[in-house]
Amino acid sequence: MKIKVLTEILEANNTIAAENRRVFEKNNVFVVNLMSAPGTGKTSLLERILEKLRIKFRIGILEGDITSTVDAQRLEKFGVQVVQVNTGGECHLDANMIRNALPLFNLGEIDLFIIENVGNLVCPAEFKVGEDMKIMISSVPEGDDKPKKYPLMFRESKCMIINKIDLLGTSDFSLERLRESALEINPGLKIFNISCKTGEGIPELSNWIRKLVKNQKK
Ligand code: MG
Ligand code: ZN
Repeated sequence: MKIKVLTEILEANNTIAAENRRVFEKNNVFVVNLMSAPGTGKTSLLERILEKLRIKFRIGILEGDITSTVDAQRLEKFGVQVVQVNTGGECHLDANMIRNALPLFNLGEIDLFIIENVGNLVCPAEFKVGEDMKIMISSVPEGDDKPKKYPLMFRESKCMIINKIDLLGTSDFSLERLRESALEINPGLKIFNISCKTGEGIPELSNWIRKLVKNQKK
């Protein structure tokens, strides 16, 4: 039998995540684990915030995908360190995949390390990878009922970004309903409304991330 009990897998994963954590701390790197369903705009968001954050920080991006290098190619032009990790079918990144990719980065020359997880609202929330915080993206076309269906994702995240607010009013999506049900699960959740298309909300979000990275650097 190849199937292991999930708790066993998660325990082993946590041990490796703690090792990754030590490596990041030693190199004074702030690490964000970015999660969402497919098509929510993770890579588009990175394009938007890289424009701003790369002026202040040296940035590394780990692009997780089941296959293909499309997203990594989109980010390379920003002059940041980008490494693509193909999970070979796995629907999430785990701590071991991160550990294996770390030698491909020059961590001593990175202030902010962003991991774009595989598009999936379920298991990325279960697997720690050694991050300082998890950020999740929701988007208007997904509807406002996801916190009830995928509570762990909302509980584990420090921040929820609501993307595609340029599409508000085109469906019965309610910003208030999404905010309320997410805050019910995680009262401390920081929420930003943004549009990668129009750029609305991007300065506020970038500032918030900038402050967190700066505080860690002290
Ligand atoms: Mg992407
Ligand atoms: Zn998975």
